[in-house]
Amino acid sequence: MDGSHAVLKRVFGFSGFRPNQETIVSALLENRDVFAVMPTGGGKSLCYQLPAHMRDGLCVVISPLISLMKDQVDAAKANGLDAEFLNSSLTPKERFRVFQSLENHQLDLLYVSPERFALPEFMATLKQAKISFFAIDEAHCISEWGHDFRPDYLLLSNIAKQFPKAAVAAFTATATHKVSDDIIKKLGLRNPHLTRASFDRPNLFYQVVPKDNLDFQLLEFLHGHQGESGIIYRTTRKSTTATAEFLQEQGIRALPYHAGLTPVQRKKNQDRFNRDEVDVVVATIAFGMGIDKSNIRFVLHGDLPKNMEGYYQETGRAGRDGEPSHCRLFFSRGDIVRIRYFIEQTEDAHERKIGEQQLFKMVRFAETNVCRRKTLLGYFGESYEKDNCQACDICMGDVECADATVPAQKIMSAIHRSCQRFGAVHIVDIVVGAKTRKIRELGHDRLKTYGAGKDMDKKYWRRVIDDLLAQDCVIQNPDNYSALELTPKGRQILLGKKRFEVIRQKTARKSSFAGLAGDYSEKLFAQLRAERQRLAQGEDVPPFVIFSDRTLREMALYFPDTPEQMSGISGVGAAKLAKYGDSFMTIIEMYKHAHPEEAQKHSILQVPVKIKRSKRKTGRTVTDTRDLARQGLSLAAIAQLRRLSEGTISQHIEKLLEEGQGDGLDVDTLLDPAKRMQIEELFNRASRKSMKAIIEASGDTVTYAELRTVRAFMQQP
Ligand code: ADP
Ligand code: ZN
Repeated sequence: MDGSHAVLKRVFGFSGFRPNQETIVSALLENRDVFAVMPTGGGKSLCYQLPAHMRDGLCVVISPLISLMKDQVDAAKANGLDAEFLNSSLTPKERFRVFQSLENHQLDLLYVSPERFALPEFMATLKQAKISFFAIDEAHCISEWGHDFRPDYLLLSNIAKQFPKAAVAAFTATATHKVSDDIIKKLGLRNPHLTRASFDRPNLFYQVVPKDNLDFQLLEFLHGHQGESGIIYRTTRKSTTATAEFLQEQGIRALPYHAGLTPVQRKKNQDRFNRDEVDVVVATIAFGMGIDKSNIRFVLHGDLPKNMEGYYQETGRAGRDGEPSHCRLFFSRGDIVRIRYFIEQTEDAHERKIGEQQLFKMVRFAETNVCRRKTLLGYFGESYEKDNCQACDICMGDVECADATVPAQKIMSAIHRSCQRFGAVHIVDIVVGAKTRKIRELGHDRLKTYGAGKDMDKKYWRRVIDDLLAQDCVIQNPDNYSALELTPKGRQILLGKKRFEVIRQKTARKSSFAGLAGDYSEKLFAQLRAERQRLAQGEDVPPFVIFSDRTLREMALYFPDTPEQMSGISGVGAAKLAKYGDSFMTIIEMYKHAHPEEAQKHSILQVPVKIKRSKRKTGRTVTDTRDLARQGLSLAAIAQLRRLSEGTISQHIEKLLEEGQGDGLDVDTLLDPAKRMQIEELFNRASRKSMKAIIEASGDTVTYAELRTVRAFMQQP
């Protein structure tokens, strides 16, 4: 039997495991219980799908969301696994069919909800089935300590006792240590293999920018990310609706999502997003669980989130496919006031305090000049060792530290001299030397700091006050109309004993990750996406079930046009190659014809895994083919002799002819002359000259390699 690496490549099309996947797979191959904490996008499904495929018997997957089951099953099927789900959305006929394949022991994977699992009749059926192991997705739902507690998950409490021979694997993306212990105890896991992956998401770029005119800032971002999928989070239904409408008016394909919409409308909007029919969802945090779209390229926060946990979860929905993705938070201190208002409405004093602390940490995150990643991971108790993460605004030098001691002193001096009795507006008026009635009446135009900052505008001084507040140099006294007061730290700065530094945005960078994904052809990528969309509609599945963005981007980089090259692309396993390979190769083929210069540039690149073997020998390998062809061998014979595919040999022939090395090559020895004539006919008659169309027109009697060979000769002058 193949090892798990071979199956990983052949079935899933991946050339290596992600962190922790391999040990989990091994544990499950040995029928050992598993408890795994992995961040979103860490690749949990593979951890049970791969052993489910390799092991004898059935893997029962318990998953909380009926709406996701179909997508998960479709994705598994697309890789050639035998997977089904059972839930209330099936017709009696479909249900019957699933039970039949269950009884005939034909399934690798069966997805069910916890309620279904607990039904006595269903339990009896499962006892008859040959179960290899259980996989429990979103396992934190069993814990009352977690934030997604679902009472129906308690129905799983006895699973290990009820099925003593089957291993139980529990997966979750959100677990504090307290929740983890609770899950293990409640499920009764037996000496489980424990893994806790890092919560770092290296492909996410974190960035905080000052918010001034949000709608236009969003629009500007979207113009730089056309055709990409993303989520914009806003706090209220009203702002969500307003932003969605604004974007729609500006021609952006955007839809709203919030609890005020009917469930049907919400589902519809989510589905359209899933299917790439709209690019952007503007949502409240109600848009959460249930999004497993892998190609979300950006998550923007239009308002400050309430806490770091929420922020991590929401940004975590970007880039599940491992591709570079952008997380931008638009921050203004005004949001703090709004959140604080809600916290103050909380009855429970303890909860209020927790709310305050969480808010404080969130604000720190937005205002610190420490790597965002370090701060974020630190929140989850993880220490980040690298000095520079290369993927946040701080580390990339988008912000700079500036000395602002003198302006800070001007503001604090004004506060001090006016006896700490006034709010920000009046203090700014003093510093800029405004001629207001209040100033005249209070005689503040005689203060030493009056007009000390008239070289800058009010907005600038307001910002200095915000910075002072952020760094606890000044506080607002809530009992005295928010009058500004100095803290001990502020006094030290005022007395010149300490410096005051602030972080400032440099000019905003457009694309933080340019170059990382390689210099792929965006035009071809767009065409491949369109093809994916077409196929997805035909099969009624979300596009990412067919191929991920990453896979398409690799295609748009390497221009693979033989099955061999295609299978070297990440995410193209045997089943997908057979099912979709031709469709995408046809697009690539046509694109190459339409853009010969680009094609040439990209054809020099080789699909990574193949490089080592063939690159050095390219020259020789083509001449080897030529020598054999000159001896009068057929295409099939050459392929057999050289242990290469006919597709590759046809590529050699094409290359030889193109380079004027076709002397002594004869199409009628390479192929059967009757076949050659048939193909010429087809080419001449066909209205669409794509390989795929012609193969179809021939009723599948000709192959790709044969077509290619004949075409190469037909194109000879
Ligand atoms: P999770 O459920 O942990 O959020 P998924 O199982 O949905 O993550 O996987 C996220 C993405 O990563 C999917 O697109 C999946 O195909 C991809 N993936 C999983 N394992 C690998 C791997 N070993 N190499 C490359 N991509 C992988
Ligand atoms: Zn960083």
